[in-house]
This record gives sequence, structure tokens and C-alpha cells, in this order.
Amino acid sequence: MSVPSDTELALRIRTLLEEGTLPSRAEHQKIYAGYGEQQFCDCCGRSIDGADVLYEIELPGTHPTPLAMHLKCFDTWVAESKSRSALAAAAATACGRFDAEYASVTGRAAGCGPLL
Ligand SMILES: [Zn+2]
Repeated sequence: MSVPSDTELALRIRTLLEEGTLPSRAEHQKIYAGYGEQQFCDCCGRSIDGADVLYEIELPGTHPTPLAMHLKCFDTWVAESKSRSALAAAAATACGRFDAEYASVTGRAAGCGPLL
């Protein structure tokens, strides 16, 4: 498999996040760094070789086996997770404003859900 470009990698990770295949980066996740042992990267799908820096992310409760990522994939994953949560926060704020306005006009809750 050829090495994906930065854009391809970011797009791939964004898709995995949207599908829910890949969880978002969160504060409580524990991270371990080391060297690869030919395991597959959860971001790009390529193997992480002995010469590659490996990041393992422990996800207690949701994933019994930790996620494995290349250093570069990890960086992209963190960046994509951040922009995603920023989008979600913006959507939630817009939703709250809409709900408040709707309720003041109609006296009923609009029940505007998150857009993402
Ligand atoms: Zn990777």
C-alpha cells in the first residue's frame, strides 16, 4: 500500500471518526509510546514496523484492545478529533439558541438535536 498524503490521511481519519469506527481523542485515554511490532495502524491501515514509533491508546470500557497508530497518524487523529469537537460545540450552541427562541415564540421545546 502506498503512503497516503497528509490530506488523504486526514480525510480517512475524519471518515473513520464520522462512522464511529474510530473514537475521538479524549482526556481520560492513556497513551503509551514505543516501537511497532508489525501491528496494523487503526488510522491508515498500514503495518507499524519495528523502526516506526508506535502510539497505543487505551480506551477502557469501549475497546478491549488498545488502538495502535503511527506517530503521524496519532497527530492527525488528535487534530481531527479537536476540529470535530469544535464543530459539535458550535452546533450545540447554535441549537441552544434556536431552542430558546423557538420556546419563547411557541411556548414549546423545539428539540433541536445535534447536527453531527
Ligand atoms: Zn498509520
